[in-house]
Amino acid sequence: MDTIFYNGVIKTLDEAYPQVSAMAVKDGVILRVGSDEAMLALADEHTKKIDLEGKFALPGFVDTHLHLYMGGAFAHRINLSGARRWAEIVEICKADAVKARKEGRWVVCGKFNNDYWSDTNKIPDRHDLDAIAEDVPVFMQRACGHLSTCNTKALQLAGLWEERKETTKLTMDFGSDGLPNGYLRERTTGRVSKIIMNFEVEDVKNLIEETCQKALEKGLVGVHSHDFNIVSDGDQKKVLQAYKELVDEGRLPIRVYQQNTFREHEQIDDFLSWGYHQNDSIGRFTFGPVKFVADGSLGSHSAAMRKPYKNDPEMRGILNLSDEKILNLAEKAAAAGFDMVAHCIGDRALEQVMNVFEHTTKKYPRANTRNGIIHCQIMDEEQQDKFREMNMVAYVQPIFVKADGLVVDDCVGEELGRQSYNWRRFKDMGVHMCGGSDFPIEPFDPLPNLYYAVTRMTNKGKPWYPENGVTLDEAVRMFTVEAAYASHEEATRGTLGVGKYCDMVVLDKNIYEEPIEELLNTTVEMTVVDGEVAYRKK
Ligand SMILES: [Zn+2]
Repeated sequence: MDTIFYNGVIKTLDEAYPQVSAMAVKDGVILRVGSDEAMLALADEHTKKIDLEGKFALPGFVDTHLHLYMGGAFAHRINLSGARRWAEIVEICKADAVKARKEGRWVVCGKFNNDYWSDTNKIPDRHDLDAIAEDVPVFMQRACGHLSTCNTKALQLAGLWEERKETTKLTMDFGSDGLPNGYLRERTTGRVSKIIMNFEVEDVKNLIEETCQKALEKGLVGVHSHDFNIVSDGDQKKVLQAYKELVDEGRLPIRVYQQNTFREHEQIDDFLSWGYHQNDSIGRFTFGPVKFVADGSLGSHSAAMRKPYKNDPEMRGILNLSDEKILNLAEKAAAAGFDMVAHCIGDRALEQVMNVFEHTTKKYPRANTRNGIIHCQIMDEEQQDKFREMNMVAYVQPIFVKADGLVVDDCVGEELGRQSYNWRRFKDMGVHMCGGSDFPIEPFDPLPNLYYAVTRMTNKGKPWYPENGVTLDEAVRMFTVEAAYASHEEATRGTLGVGKYCDMVVLDKNIYEEPIEELLNTTVEMTVVDGEVAYRKK
């Protein structure tokens, strides 16, 4: 036997032996579970014996939607998420502009959220940023990731200054003077990213590895990550090269299930020409579904809605891909035997994508297709029923209710708001629902996500339709059992049952026995990947 974990309170999530104190592992696979005595008796002189010190253990967590590479890159930006006043941000940026001027670089900030500011809630425009610096390019991205803002210098350097409302093909905003006002929506931000995030393969590797190490500290043994064509368009070859080298060099400590994302025909054609299939693996890197980003975000009112925003009657959001284009891209993916997932926040985006998936599953029927919707936010019950009928997987971000719970009703009205983010109804209908953080939009920490999945608590300390929450056990399963289902790995991962790979997280508290608030004070003691201790708290 390679390793015996003993003296634990191990909740396996496996029906045969729901709770055991010890586990015997060989070649990363759980061969036996049972009492300390019985398991320790299996040890020979080469066996590692690991004392869990009476602590509580669960199957390792998997975050089913995040962005490793982008998150790694964003970690090097000025993080504005803690700012509670615009004036505070002006000060921080002015100080950085002094350094940026000397170093010949941009002032680059991320994660601002104007909803949290006490002095103004206006999204800063070109003039506000020019007041910080005129000779240094200043760029800041909103926390939602779907909107950013630039000063005049940055617009000039990105080649956006000459754009005009009447003729532009880009999603950007203009002021009453007819000039760009600095707001860039959706992929137009890519014009700036191309300049400030022009990374080499070696940089990409470092950013991904750095981020995976941090993920281990949060009990993550695997992630589903969207890394292609997000930092810059057409970077998919570079990203794959980075993963291949990380695998070769033994520098990928967790499993990465890639949500292969494309906007353009050339991108998906190039990808399909590589010859990989759904669930082909290169070490810990696996090709997952093909992903599309159907719309934007709620906060920036770019999520595509069937009706105008209640609090912004001019806006109905943005469909990133025309009906024809998404259908053609999806046909290519389905014909090649890939599952598909789509980022949908608004109900119009969901409608578009469900129509496309309905068409492709009929035209290219395949056993075990697991198409899914990432975010699954605004929808009515009729759409939810169709979702269930099509047996799609719901990839939800429980922690989003913290901020969204304060704005959804204003955006879409209470009637639709109550039907949206309805995880209780999804569960009751038997929908496969898995959890994620959308890091770097939110931190990739499953424990707070469990808390929000159950409590539906908002930033203002009041829960938002708490009756739409799930139980703690259901929430835990979203980050374990259901995550394994989403990646077709339910036979080999997701529980600590006999015959499965030993992916485990050890916590400092038994979260099933503590008050729910304690989830926010629980820490990870140890993370085990494929039977090896990959992280241990110092
Ligand atoms: Zn995302």
